[in-house]
Amino acid sequence: MRDTDRALVQAASAVAKLRCRSASHTLASAARTAQGRVVTGVDVVHPAVDACAEVVLLGAAATQGVGELETLVTVGDRGRSLVPPCDRCRRLLADHFPALRVIVGPLEDPQVVPVTDLTALVPPVAGDPDPE
Ligand SMILES: [Zn+2]
Repeated sequence: MRDTDRALVQAASAVAKLRCRSASHTLASAARTAQGRVVTGVDVVHPAVDACAEVVLLGAAATQGVGELETLVTVGDRGRSLVPPCDRCRRLLADHFPALRVIVGPLEDPQVVPVTDLTALVPPVAGDPDPE
């Protein structure tokens, strides 16, 4: 892990602590560009339609005109651990940013993994019509 990776985990943790204070928002993502710009997003929980923090982050990045994302991490609320992208988000992220690095694993010993290598770490989404 680079210092910038640790800083990204801290950024996501800070957003989770500050903004994930209800059942509506439980995860925070932070991503960094090669130029060091950081974009964040929180998930939107709803009984019918959830929006993952990664999806909200991608929309925010596009809205802000941010270019290629280099590294991403998602952190759970209330000091929960790092959360890997779900299968759908992994595909979305890999399609948009094939060189993206994702920080996963326990908070005390995180690893940086290419998004394209995440498949084995992420269980398929229940009901996914095309599990790998
Ligand atoms: Zn997702």
